[in-house]
Order: sequence, then C-alpha cells, then structure tokens
Amino acid sequence: MIYFDHNATTAIDDRVLETMLPFLKFFFGNPSSLYRHGRLVRSAIDTAREQIAGVIGVHVTQIIFTSGGTEANNLALTAIKSDSKLAISAVEHPSITEPAEYLARQGHELKFIGVDRNGIVSQEAINEIIQQRPALVSIMLANNETGVIQDVAHYAQQLKNKGIIVHTDAVQALGKIPIDFKRLGVNMMTLSSHKIYGPKGCGALIVDKDVNLKAMLLGGGQEQGLRAGTENVPAIIGFGKAAELAGLELAQRAGHLLKLRNILEDRLLSIQGISIFAKDVERLPNTVQFGMEGMDGEMLLMKLDKKGIAVSSGSACASGGGKPSSVLVAMGVTAELAKGAIRVSLGKSNTEEEIIEFIDLLETLVTPG
Ligand code: PLP
Repeated sequence: MIYFDHNATTAIDDRVLETMLPFLKFFFGNPSSLYRHGRLVRSAIDTAREQIAGVIGVHVTQIIFTSGGTEANNLALTAIKSDSKLAISAVEHPSITEPAEYLARQGHELKFIGVDRNGIVSQEAINEIIQQRPALVSIMLANNETGVIQDVAHYAQQLKNKGIIVHTDAVQALGKIPIDFKRLGVNMMTLSSHKIYGPKGCGALIVDKDVNLKAMLLGGGQEQGLRAGTENVPAIIGFGKAAELAGLELAQRAGHLLKLRNILEDRLLSIQGISIFAKDVERLPNTVQFGMEGMDGEMLLMKLDKKGIAVSSGSACASGGGKPSSVLVAMGVTAELAKGAIRVSLGKSNTEEEIIEFIDLLETLVTPG
C-alpha cells in the first residue's frame, strides 16, 4: 500500500513501540500506587512529560494528558467563563466546532472568525473579533485539510492584550514545524500522539497559569484534578518518545517532506484543470489538497484505493459525509470544486517513487478518454 494519509493518522514508529512494550507486559503497576511497582511507572510518566515539555518549551506542570486531541480541544473550551462570548476560526476541526456549538446552545454567544480565499485569518477579521469582546478565542496553528499555517503568535499577542484567553489546536503542526509555546504566546495548546508516529488514544492540553479549566472527568484527581482516571500508561510513554523523536528529527523530516511535496505539486500542476488549494501561502511541508472542476473526490479516492493508494477526500472525520468540506467552503471555494477535493498528506517513510506512481495513475484517472 502507498499510504498518503498521515494527517488522518500515522503508523507507530518502531522505536516508540519498543519503549511502550515493557509497560504493556511487565510494568503494569498503577502510577498512583505507592509501592515500587507503581512508583516506577509514575517515573516513566514523568519522563514522557519531560520529553513533551522539552519539545515545545514548557514546564512539566503545564501538561495535562488526555485521551487525544479531541478531548484536549473540548477541555480547552471549558475555560470559558459563564455568560461570555466565544470566537473560533471558520476552519477549525470538528473537535472545536462541535463543543463550541454545544456551548452556543447553552447560551454562550459564538462568533466565527472568517478566513480569506487562502484559508488565512486576516488582521481585519481579528480587529472585528476584538470589537466583539469574546472571553476566549481558538485559532488552529495548522489546518488538517489544506495544511495552511496561521500566524497565531501575531494574533495571540493582540488578543491577550485585550484580556482574551487564546487557545490553539496544534495537532497537525506538531512534528512538522517548530513549536515554541512561549513564542506562540497562547494560553492553551492542543497536541495529539497518533499524528506524530505515536499511539492512538493519547494527547495533551498545554496550559498556562492564567487559565481556569473545568474538569470534564471527576474521580481520582489525576492530572492535577483536571482529568481523572488511571493514566493510559503505555500510550503516554509512547507519546513522550514520539514527541522526543519528532523534536530531534524535525529538520530532517521537514526537509524530506518538502522535497516530496514540491515534486508532487509540480507534477500535479502539469495535469490540466487541477488547482492546489492555498498553494501560495505558508503550509505544512507534508500537505497538499487539490481539486478539479467536475471531479468526484470520493469516487477518485475509491479508484485510488483499488490500486492500493490511500488518500483522503477531506478531513478523515468528514470523509463519507457527502458534504463539501467546510474548510474549503469557508475559503469561498465553490461546492462543485470542493466536492472534488483530494488531500494527500505525506509522511516520513514516503518516497519519490511512490509520488511518481501516484501521479502516473492519477493522470490516467482524471484525463478524459
Ligand atoms: N485537531 C485536528 C486539527 C485534527 O486534525 C485532529 C484529528 O484529525 C484532531 C484535532 C483530533 O485529534 P484526535 O484524533 O487525537 O482526537
């Protein structure tokens, strides 16, 4: 199989798996237990926390482990004070838009921060939102469909100066571009393990001292009382290792991905009628989303699948929904073109040969006759 869907999920790195295995088999103690078997596991979790803290430049106490990016995003929005407004960008992942819409049904006013035709939040949109005086704003660092990177640092500073709490979903950015929590200047940031060659079912919300979260799970007081429940020990340990590797290998991985992306984009543009979304703005080095008028993205995905190539026709969660991508719609892409969208998201093991095989096949599938 040629796997081109790394924004949906990644295969676990062998080095990550090796780190996890002893904690599935031998070191099964509960990290809250006081005897040695428990303390040893606690110390392995502490190591994972240090590994993650090191990659994004935070203190270990700022990390709250969760079951993934979805839970971390939901938890972030609990920081909203009662009777206050919430604003999110128009291109957020459903794990932000759905809880935001839930909060709106509970009486919070919800505002959407518009994006331009490249999916970028503009200064005008930020000025407008500041006028609305929301208590909390969420703007993702990198988009899962288009790969577009937002200037979160620039906007976070302006918003925080007005006393607004700022959250960013950095699930797709981690491991692909450098991330420094302090330099971004946000109050909260979401991460997920399975997008960086770590195990599924693990993520984290990074918080600063100004944030007052409301725990969604109450119980044994784990994670500073903000996320009760016995820790998913092997996954947390795997997440830590995956984060460490992502930090150490960032430059090499990003260089490889960008080289492949350039080859892919050059070849794509030589196919008549294909356009690449947000082509000329800063994007993740691994992501290309393209469309062609009259093309059916889902149909093309199935044809590619038959030939052993895995791509996405939008975000993984939206796939199969039959609706055009809300991200592309927010960018003003016509429903017709959006329905034909295909996302290729490359990973560290992909090769130039795979790109060429994909493009050769794509040409035969989209060229009439
Ligand atoms: N945020 C973004 C931008 C994502 O792409 C995803 C997953 O696709 C998530 C959040 C959810 O993360 P998880 O799958 O760990 O719940």
